[in-house]
Amino acid sequence: MIDQTRSSYDVVVIGGGPAGTALATFLQRQGHTCLVLEGSTFPRYHIGESLIPHTYGTLDRLGLLPLLRESHFPVKHSVRFVSPSGQEADPFYFSETIEGERSRTWQVERSEFDQICLDNAIRSGVEVRMETRVREVLFEGEQAVGVVAHRGDDPDTEIRGKVIVDSSGRATVIGKQLGLREEIPNLRKASIWSYYRGGQRLAGIDAGETTVFTIADRGWFWYIPLPNDVVSVGIVASPEYLFDQTSHFEEVFLREVDRCGPLAQRLQNAERVDGVRGIRRLAYLNRQVAGDGWLMIGDAAGFLDPIYSSGLFLALASAELAAGCVHAALEKDDVSAGELGAFTGALWNGVDVVWRLIKAYYDPAFSFRDFAARFPEHRPALIDCLIGDVVGKDMSAFLEALAEMTPPPARLK
Ligand SMILES: Cc1cc2nc3c(=O)[nH]c(=O)nc-3n(C[C@H](O)[C@H](O)[C@H](O)COP(=O)(O)OP(=O)(O)OC[C@H]3O[C@@H](n4cnc5c(N)ncnc54)[C@H](O)[C@@H]3O)c2cc1C
Repeated sequence: MIDQTRSSYDVVVIGGGPAGTALATFLQRQGHTCLVLEGSTFPRYHIGESLIPHTYGTLDRLGLLPLLRESHFPVKHSVRFVSPSGQEADPFYFSETIEGERSRTWQVERSEFDQICLDNAIRSGVEVRMETRVREVLFEGEQAVGVVAHRGDDPDTEIRGKVIVDSSGRATVIGKQLGLREEIPNLRKASIWSYYRGGQRLAGIDAGETTVFTIADRGWFWYIPLPNDVVSVGIVASPEYLFDQTSHFEEVFLREVDRCGPLAQRLQNAERVDGVRGIRRLAYLNRQVAGDGWLMIGDAAGFLDPIYSSGLFLALASAELAAGCVHAALEKDDVSAGELGAFTGALWNGVDVVWRLIKAYYDPAFSFRDFAARFPEHRPALIDCLIGDVVGKDMSAFLEALAEMTPPPARLK
């Protein structure tokens, strides 16, 4: 029986999305008491449906693979980029660089996937309080020591933790409280999306692919097959381009679907089955992601761009790496910034590779087709990026080749 009035834990986790539940699962299994505070009721809607293969290891260590294998989520073997004229580049099949089951992954409905992750945490002994929002993190001097949370109209309660983990996603609880969250000025993108039933599916192993339709202004649409014959369709482009005539999400979205011939063709017999949602500023980063007694993982630390579907991979990878540091810090009884943030170096090197490729995609001088033709020897490294195999890996030769086609941006960190 869980004591819902308990007020002190080893680790207090803000947010029960994939990052927060993964970290809590790993730490609870290592014998640390973990509390996850989740503001919403599950299952809840979330955008971000396409996994990339390098999530495999973390999903395996979490014990989630059997559930995913028996799920109804479409299996994804590849990603394909389609030019504005409808010219289709060959798909990048993940099996070109990895073998066996690791070379495929899933297109997930997030309400279900996040519930699976949360249930797995609970099964591992993590205490979860739903509909419980964290209002603020408590500090004594520089040291985070707990949170103030409330459930519905109930009075605020103070909950103490030796380590406070911010995995609140785009809410960025600590980032906002400490004024650490910043926009990325040279990556100004907005996104608008919806769902259709009956969109065209490709045959065979391409049926579950993510298709990226490039449009004018270096914007693009994603086309992600989901269960029950539904496809997720969304556009990413500069706000200047999208909102030049109106800022109304639905009007802009329908206009752009109409304008993108190859996409409109796939949707010609489809019916829209949901409203239109959007985000006006996608990218942001926190100047600092760990401090004494606290750290940030997943989207709470930052978000760049969905072009390579790296969000869930980075959420899970940062959770697992951070869990290792929190475990070591608790064992040593030293929860200083240096100990808790020790995972960030390797992770940021990997994020920087993704950042370089994001900036390349938005540079009109760059195209995947030209890159693959000019540097065939770097095609495997390009696929490694699309898979997420970028953390703790030397990608310098690939980045040098990339720099010959598109100037490298300043490092993020
Ligand atoms: C347009 C778009 C498209 C995307 N497409 C993809 C994709 O195809 N593939 C991919 O991998 N990623 C994609 N992403 C990114 C992906 O959605 C995120 O990276 C991922 O959800 C991050 O997981 P997380 O656990 O860090 O945060 P979240 O999943 O956002 O979880 C955070 C949780 O914290 C809770 N919370 C927030 N505030 C509080 C509070 N104060 N107290 C308590 N709880 C709180 C929320 O309710 C939520 O459940 C996309 C993102 C966008 C914006």
